[in-house]
Amino acid sequence: MERGTKEAVPGAPRSGIDAVRPETLRIGGLRLEGVSRAGEETWLRVHPPGLAFDVGRGALQLAGSACLFITHGHLDHALGVPYVLSQRSLHHEAGTRVFCPRAVAGAMRDLVAAAARLEEVDYDYELVPFAPGDRVDVGRDLAVEAFATDHVVPSLGYHLWRRRRRLRAELRDRSGEEIAALRAAGQEVTETVEDLALSYCGDTGPGVFDREPRLFGAGVLVVECTFVGEGLEEKGRRYKHLHLADLAARAGRFDNRAIVLTHLSRRHRRSDLEEEIRRVLPELAERVHVLIGERG
Ligand SMILES: [Zn+2]
Ligand SMILES: [Zn+2]
Repeated sequence: MERGTKEAVPGAPRSGIDAVRPETLRIGGLRLEGVSRAGEETWLRVHPPGLAFDVGRGALQLAGSACLFITHGHLDHALGVPYVLSQRSLHHEAGTRVFCPRAVAGAMRDLVAAAARLEEVDYDYELVPFAPGDRVDVGRDLAVEAFATDHVVPSLGYHLWRRRRRLRAELRDRSGEEIAALRAAGQEVTETVEDLALSYCGDTGPGVFDREPRLFGAGVLVVECTFVGEGLEEKGRRYKHLHLADLAARAGRFDNRAIVLTHLSRRHRRSDLEEEIRRVLPELAERVHVLIGERG
């Protein structure tokens, strides 16, 4: 057989692997767009402010994202960093900030540097090593904070906080006229509060719920669910991924407006997960969404 023909090569992957199209969810004033399949690719664009949580193997849809938050070094989440930087430099986008766990920052810098040498260009970017508790503003009223997750390699999750002004709590019973009078007298009548708009966990085992119990109060909780069904609980534990049973065991604690499940193993179909959600999480089913991408 000549090189370059399209005939199947024994042992090679089937050429008929379906392309995966991103899917979009709109929840609580946020638009989430992404693809997430274990071992294949995981990226999520969150708007506002248009940032990326993980970049998959390099999604074109992320070329507009000025901030890339990488959860860990596995290539289905992180390989796309140089590609997104390359696309952004092609389109003359402004500088990009790439956030990643401190322990993988050196390797990430090397990966990007190798890509820049291949292309003979310089990417306008800043690499920011992050640790749990580190925070950065990503918009006028938005900030991202890192938290610890529970994976087999150094890993982080990210919270998206939204600041808003509200009437100070002690003034809530006052009339409009009284408040106007206080304001006219130069008193501060409002205060800033922060809401946890969204939490993104990346890859994680169930230890994340002990390390970061604030997850249960996030408006939108984006959490992986790699495995469903009997017999796979041990696999989840070994590779530090979540099984639907891990979520069911904590069903009563989720105060979230929405729970978005990602990172489903390729051994499962979407319908397998949806059926299991109805069976083992009936009390949460209305609030649970699946975001894994659509097979084309
Ligand atoms: Zn993964
Ligand atoms: Zn991983």
